[in-house]
Amino acid sequence: MTTPDSTVAVMRLHARAHPRFDAPTIDRVSLREALSTAWAFDAFFQACEADVSHRVSMSSIGRCSIRMTCFVVDIDHRIEGTKATPSLQWRSSIREKVRALREATKQKPVLYFTKSGARLLLRLPSPIPIDTEADARAWRARYGAWLEILRRDFDIEGDTACDDFARLFRLPFVHRAGVDVEDLRDSCPDRVIAYVPSEIGIWDPALNAEQLERIEGARSELMTVSRSRNDDRTVNIDPTTLDSLLARLCYGRGLVRGVASDGSKVFVRCPFGEHENGARSSTVIFRPRERGGLGGFKCAHASCFGRSAIDALNEFLPAEKRAAGSIAHRL
Ligand SMILES: [Zn+2]
Repeated sequence: MTTPDSTVAVMRLHARAHPRFDAPTIDRVSLREALSTAWAFDAFFQACEADVSHRVSMSSIGRCSIRMTCFVVDIDHRIEGTKATPSLQWRSSIREKVRALREATKQKPVLYFTKSGARLLLRLPSPIPIDTEADARAWRARYGAWLEILRRDFDIEGDTACDDFARLFRLPFVHRAGVDVEDLRDSCPDRVIAYVPSEIGIWDPALNAEQLERIEGARSELMTVSRSRNDDRTVNIDPTTLDSLLARLCYGRGLVRGVASDGSKVFVRCPFGEHENGARSSTVIFRPRERGGLGGFKCAHASCFGRSAIDALNEFLPAEKRAAGSIAHRL
């Protein structure tokens, strides 16, 4: 059972840094404290606990213990499809909807208003582990099912882009350029958490069979692991550890984007070069059955549908194959 004292990592962002790239962890504090503190900087949190001091991301999976502890929902205020500053009228309509949620579930959510909408937060009845990439995919599917329930039962439209387990959310009382945080706390009760953080309720809706099936199905999907835009950072890979010929060929062309933490697959840019590269996991080379073998090839893009490992091999020149190692001569 999580308690209101589940810890969350609070991060400070540098003035001009993009939230996804530069978020050193300041501290792990209780959820209650994170939500009620007036932070002297632009502070963000993640909806999970982890046993490391830094921010967790896809690349942390398998390297530390990550446990999802909250369900955090962003509700954007949109006028004709564009994000807009919440009006008083919009705020009161959201309050009404959240009140209905509170009454139906007998649980008190945290609600606070943001620059372009509102944020809703409930705790999970027990932590959900993210130990594998399959867990991350299942979390994404589960989050989607939860948003469906919010929409269907409470007319609350959550932002589907927040289904990433590692998403950063801005805390309610933070210092941002031109805004004095104490002013914000004392003189804008309108913006403040609707329900006290020490009494944060539990989110535990009943999922139907179709939703449960979708969550299980997400575990076995090979593609769509990550929509992260932060996955094209330079990777340092020892080519001698790439035991698939295709992986070594891709390495030779500078196409390797990363290796799965369990070593079972290598993420590459598509050697056919006919489309944008998409998510890191869109184009994958699987470990071969025998060491030095060709390896399996799978590209999720439509223009690569049905292309095999042999097709991929044929994209490389004989000289590249020779350079990829003596194993090339045997093929
Ligand atoms: Zn492709």
